[in-house]
Amino acid sequence: MNFILKGKLKHYTKDVIKTLEIVFLSILFIALIILIKYKPVYTVTLSGETLGYVKEKSDLENRINEYINKKEGTIALIDIEIKPKYSLELVSKKEITSEEDIFEKIQETAIITYKTYAITVNGEAKLEVNTEIEAQDAISKLSEGLNESVDFKLGYVEVYKTQQTAISEDVAISSLNEIKLAKVSEFEAEQERLEQERLAAEQAKKAEEKRLAAERKKLVASSVSYGNVNGMGITTPLKVRPLITSRFGERSRSRRSSHTGLDLATSLGTPIYPIAGGKVTFAGNQGSYGKMIIIDHGNGIQSWYAHCNSLNVGVGSSVTTDTLIATVGSTGNSTGPHLHLEIRVNGSAVNPQNYLY
Ligand SMILES: [Zn+2]
Repeated sequence: MNFILKGKLKHYTKDVIKTLEIVFLSILFIALIILIKYKPVYTVTLSGETLGYVKEKSDLENRINEYINKKEGTIALIDIEIKPKYSLELVSKKEITSEEDIFEKIQETAIITYKTYAITVNGEAKLEVNTEIEAQDAISKLSEGLNESVDFKLGYVEVYKTQQTAISEDVAISSLNEIKLAKVSEFEAEQERLEQERLAAEQAKKAEEKRLAAERKKLVASSVSYGNVNGMGITTPLKVRPLITSRFGERSRSRRSSHTGLDLATSLGTPIYPIAGGKVTFAGNQGSYGKMIIIDHGNGIQSWYAHCNSLNVGVGSSVTTDTLIATVGSTGNSTGPHLHLEIRVNGSAVNPQNYLY
């Protein structure tokens, strides 16, 4: 009985060892399979989305930091707002992704801010170039030989953008040059228009002057009359039509004796011309006559011009009917601007209206 039991037990132990061996080998086999097929790696997730797997998280982190800090060209700032998360997992080797792919996906989420220079035309940003030097160079090239009056004022401002919109300097220059040419021709057209306007105004002024001159001539012609004193031709001393305020021989409250001349009222400063050619024998102040001119025409004929404002000739001057001898005034015994015209024949005053007016 004991022998039988011992033998059974021996047999049983053998079975257990054999079983354990099998189990151990199986585990070893499974472990081997796992090690062949799977790998312990870091799963990289971004906002809950699995991007892939990496062996070392520091490699990827370093690469991201390097990327953020590397500001090339016009890049002013690189911002990766959402940071990737890592978790250690056993992953099938089939699914292992390259770090490059993960990095590219992270890179796609980066917000890149570019610093460029916008060239302005009359304060309005037109386009951007990459650097300040390019902006300055483009401006100096475009300003060459440009008339300062042209409405094309260039400048530049710094611009921060999340998109690359800067263009090459050459393209910028040719694009701005088109605006410049348009502004220049606009300016030239305006200059041309102003010149035409000026010429038109000049012509209109000339035409108006001509018209006024013709009108004056007509007025003078209509106000001038001619007469004859003892065979001597005479003409009116004023080239405008005066108002006769006192006739020859009239008496008034201010004048006890009869009037020895003809009073011709007109505006102060009206030119006075001799009624005929002759020589000035008096030019000066003469009491109630005020400033006066006397011209001797020969043959005993004299003409007197009194109450003048200014005297333009002196004693001894030879005058013609075109000589401006004085202007109408109100000097001496006078109540307003008028010419007192006297014609004397052999010393006696005669009525001027016998010949004129
Ligand atoms: Zn008078």
